[in-house]
Amino acid sequence: MNRMGILSIRDILNYNYCPRIVYFEYVLRRPQGRTKKEDEGLKQHNEFVPRGKRNKMVKRICYDKKLFNLPLYSPRMNLQTVADCVLIDTKEKLAVPMQFKHGKTPSCLYRTMKYQLVAEALLIEECLGLSCPYGLVKFLPEETTLRTEIDEIQKQKLKEQLESINNVVRFERYPDGPRTRNYCGDCWYHGKVCTGFDGKIVG
Ligand code: SF4
Repeated sequence: MNRMGILSIRDILNYNYCPRIVYFEYVLRRPQGRTKKEDEGLKQHNEFVPRGKRNKMVKRICYDKKLFNLPLYSPRMNLQTVADCVLIDTKEKLAVPMQFKHGKTPSCLYRTMKYQLVAEALLIEECLGLSCPYGLVKFLPEETTLRTEIDEIQKQKLKEQLESINNVVRFERYPDGPRTRNYCGDCWYHGKVCTGFDGKIVG
């Protein structure tokens, strides 16, 4: 969330990790410190997006326009992002969001990558009036591309999550914890602000 109170895709990912992170960040105003791993990931991403532009684009996909680093904002969903790349078929009114990731190609897309693509699809549909039936993640330097379908159920689920996040902030509701206590061990708030799965706030 920025100073204007607009959510980002990072907030969706945090909420899916543990809904209490949103509460700690924006209600208690205790922002997470960025880990070294996150800093490194951001640095590599910034280096790899320009490289993605130079590489051959995806074959077998019809598009007549491609936009890089496209800012997208929906006042209705209170959500904004900058999409790495959007392939557009203007005749069919279709768009395909494509992310660039650095690293080895996984056997299937991670949940976080899918959430990001669904969020980008919702924003593209609202901002550009185009349909997004699927999304892509291109892994560099291997140059492999994985695809995921984006259906109405996923979009609806994401809209509900955005509403829940906005409600946590607006009504200062302390939300339920993560799906499993295993998440607490890697959480930045553990021991600093939160005792963990039982939900007690430190101090
Ligand atoms: S320590 Fe556990 S319950 Fe607390 S914010 Fe982190 S993941 Fe959520």
